[in-house]
Amino acid sequence: MKKFFIIGMTAVFFNPILYSQELQSVDGNFTVIDKCGFSSDSETGLNSVDNWGYGYDSLLVELNIWRQNSFVKIDSIGLSVQGRPLWQLTISSDPYNISGKRTVYIHARTHPQETEGFYVTREIVKILLSNTAFAQNVRENCVFYIVPMYNPDGVELGYPRRNANNVDLESNWFTFPNQPEVAALKARFAELMSSSNPIEVELNMHSSSLCKRYFVYHDSAGTSPQFAMMQQDFIEGIRLYFPNGIEPWNYYVSWTSGNPMKYPESWFWFYHGESVMALTYEDMYQCSGTGNFDITANAILQGVMDYMNIPTSVDYKNEFVSKNFILEQNYPNPFNPTTKIRFTIPALTPSLSQRERVILKVYDILGNEVATLVNEEKEPGYYEVEFNAEQLSSGIYFYRLQSGNPSTGSGQSYIQTKKMILLR
Ligand SMILES: [Zn+2]
Repeated sequence: MKKFFIIGMTAVFFNPILYSQELQSVDGNFTVIDKCGFSSDSETGLNSVDNWGYGYDSLLVELNIWRQNSFVKIDSIGLSVQGRPLWQLTISSDPYNISGKRTVYIHARTHPQETEGFYVTREIVKILLSNTAFAQNVRENCVFYIVPMYNPDGVELGYPRRNANNVDLESNWFTFPNQPEVAALKARFAELMSSSNPIEVELNMHSSSLCKRYFVYHDSAGTSPQFAMMQQDFIEGIRLYFPNGIEPWNYYVSWTSGNPMKYPESWFWFYHGESVMALTYEDMYQCSGTGNFDITANAILQGVMDYMNIPTSVDYKNEFVSKNFILEQNYPNPFNPTTKIRFTIPALTPSLSQRERVILKVYDILGNEVATLVNEEKEPGYYEVEFNAEQLSSGIYFYRLQSGNPSTGSGQSYIQTKKMILLR
């Protein structure tokens, strides 16, 4: 006889931390001022000995090693206040000819003390320069621009969160005139956005005193319902590759009262809207769980490739599909008026009879629910659902699959969203 687990979805959801203007008291004794989780920009009491373990000289040593790899080109995008070059790596199959490549940009070490975000970035570089089939495929399809040390003066001066002019570069993006580091990166972003290979994904790498790995999610109030769903898809797509290591999309919800108009992401949203997935990633700052930089880097790269619909290693994918929750692209797409949606529910505990609450819904571009295709408990397996849009008008729609796993009691849940087009 099979056991049934009738537990509401609410039981498996997180209580998100909500930040409207990055200034709220979370509980009685801990006031969070910014998305990195630090309560102040105080420059005392933080360990700056030896530039937090990785100084400007360390970077120069590694740049000289990376420079020998034919898939990388290194130059600078400008100078810091004290004249240090802001080094940028260009990684692609031929870094001197990037025509037709899809563009990803990553910058790290805005806050000098937050070395963990840089260590993940360094692992991303190592993967991209490796000889695996995955890396080769990424290099064939993409160009990655990486600024590993965006605030070298702060690193050398031992300023945990500021540059040589004592300014926090993270929140200097709508100040005029802004700092030379901000001006240089902003000019580079603007240059790429007006090129034939505009940035599609931009990651701003930090680490947080909250001792969790998470992405800083921007609420639809500060962006749009469409972009909110795109972010959820992006973050959950990365989590598929490190589900117990990276927090769900709603762990840290920001911009609940609008675009703060001060961060790099603010700049991207203000000028480019949904066309750039610009997010801050926060690794664990000096926590007991700090580490696994290589696993995190792999998850980010795999998830970014999935988000950009760039196919990666087939063998790896097949192995992964059998273990993980997958929502496939509908077929046909565009469609009129019917299309098929397929998904896989993973067997997390194969020895037990396990059922999961599965919800598949369709939303319009404003985030209004227009149909519920599935809302029931299902066993692990491969499913196909037909969607008939006879009653709907032409346009872009989203379909979202949510799957909770109450039987494990682990609090794990999955959510993924994809876009489809109805053409009448
Ligand atoms: Zn930070």
